[in-house]
Amino acid sequence: MSTLIMKFGGTSVGSAEAIEQVGSIVQSHNQDWEQLVVVVSAMRGVTDTLIRCAELAVQGEEDQYQSLIEKINEGNHAAMEEVISDGAEQQQLSAQFDEYIAELSAYCRSIQVLGEVTPRGMDTITSMGERMNAPLVAAALRGQGLSAQAVDAAQLIVTDDSFQHANPIEDETRKKVREQLQPLLSESIIPVVTGFVAATQDGILTTLGRGGSDFTAAILGDSLDASEVWTWTDVDGVMTADPRIVANARVIPELSFSEVSELAYFGAKVLHPKTLRPIIERDIPLWVKNTFNPDFAGTKIIRSSPSIEGKVTAITTIRDLSLVTVEGRGMLGIPGIAARTFAAVARQGASVLMISQASSEQSICFVIPTKTVLGVIQSIESEMELELSRRDIDRVWAQPDIVIVTAVGAGLRNTPGIAGRIFSALGDAGINVIAIAQGSSEFSISIVVAEQEADEAMRQIHREVILNG
Ligand code: ADP
Ligand code: ASP
Ligand code: MG
Repeated sequence: MSTLIMKFGGTSVGSAEAIEQVGSIVQSHNQDWEQLVVVVSAMRGVTDTLIRCAELAVQGEEDQYQSLIEKINEGNHAAMEEVISDGAEQQQLSAQFDEYIAELSAYCRSIQVLGEVTPRGMDTITSMGERMNAPLVAAALRGQGLSAQAVDAAQLIVTDDSFQHANPIEDETRKKVREQLQPLLSESIIPVVTGFVAATQDGILTTLGRGGSDFTAAILGDSLDASEVWTWTDVDGVMTADPRIVANARVIPELSFSEVSELAYFGAKVLHPKTLRPIIERDIPLWVKNTFNPDFAGTKIIRSSPSIEGKVTAITTIRDLSLVTVEGRGMLGIPGIAARTFAAVARQGASVLMISQASSEQSICFVIPTKTVLGVIQSIESEMELELSRRDIDRVWAQPDIVIVTAVGAGLRNTPGIAGRIFSALGDAGINVIAIAQGSSEFSISIVVAEQEADEAMRQIHREVILNG
């Protein structure tokens, strides 16, 4: 049985024309596969707007969040009027939109009353973008003569309760996906599934993390033993760097699962970092394609692809980070100081992206997301209260606005000299390197630079190790 999962990202469903384009892509591949499943994200910008609504509600800015909700409402209706011509379909959709919008207003009001929003509340709110969009896309496909039906992934994907970055529970998900989707597929109905959204065993809404629709597609691919998964986006495939920053970035025709995992982990937004997990196990090929250039092949991602010795595949960045330093001359010789530091960080649930310790043992530096800095510093200060009072540790401080720039490539293994070339290129351009680390997988080299130098650092490294080979 040949089964294809196609996921369309926010930009692919960001306007009425884009949704029509999605329709023609589905139309043109429908005949080639026995079973076809579509996954859709929220319309472009809607998830961000939903998050903003919740934040404004916390601040008590009722007029402002109401006007954003109205903007979402208008966007839904405008798209619907352009893409759907059938009166009955319009009426039904309109009623559905009204329901979601009323629900959203009610949630925001209760957040306003409480003065806070929990991660669980945030998931209920952010899931609305996808839940409003899947019925619209399904109706658009029906308008083009396809048989399609919207499906809420809360009915399919079962996760734990790690709200905002929930983890799927494989067996239960597989069972539900099959139970819910097989009856549609066997009648040749295309399910149009909400990306990003899932639910716990008790049916409480969760989400898979920002950009999580890619992960949804992979989870469905795994559960349905799909032949292939295709993610449709707004660029020609996985590229040697983010084309918004590096204008001469090139498309990479073929990549291995492990290279893409590394790339996504180090910030290439084109795929959610967890996307590869379900796909690797079943060895399902993944393609990244451009909705607006559908005849172009895109990037094919498979188990192994030939890596070229010494060759860097791509340059990525992770932003909104801070470098935390724990320093003091008395640290030398206190046993277990690093272990205690990182235990204190872990208690805050903060993820450490990079670590370096000076060989003098007079400082420990590590990089964490800026939004976790306050809690982390407090946690370390309370762990090290005694050492701080004795001045064994002088201070725990953070440098904000830093970026990790990473060169990724399977061919980097055992290739001396790449780090040197990166350093010289940055040195020649007058860019200061704050810290450096080689990934333990030997697939990557990461450097830390200041935010304002990050784009130029990317361009310099790209020129030196990718364009010049
Ligand atoms: P979608 O809504 O389709 O999921 P995203 O915005 O999440 O789209 O991801 C696509 C974007 O990822 C591109 O527009 C591009 O700017 C960015 N991007 C970052 N790094 C890369 C890369 N290495 N290759 C391709 N795109 C990248
Ligand atoms: N709409 C969600 C987000 O913006 C999920 C996705 O786009 O994949 O994060
Ligand atoms: Mg995305």
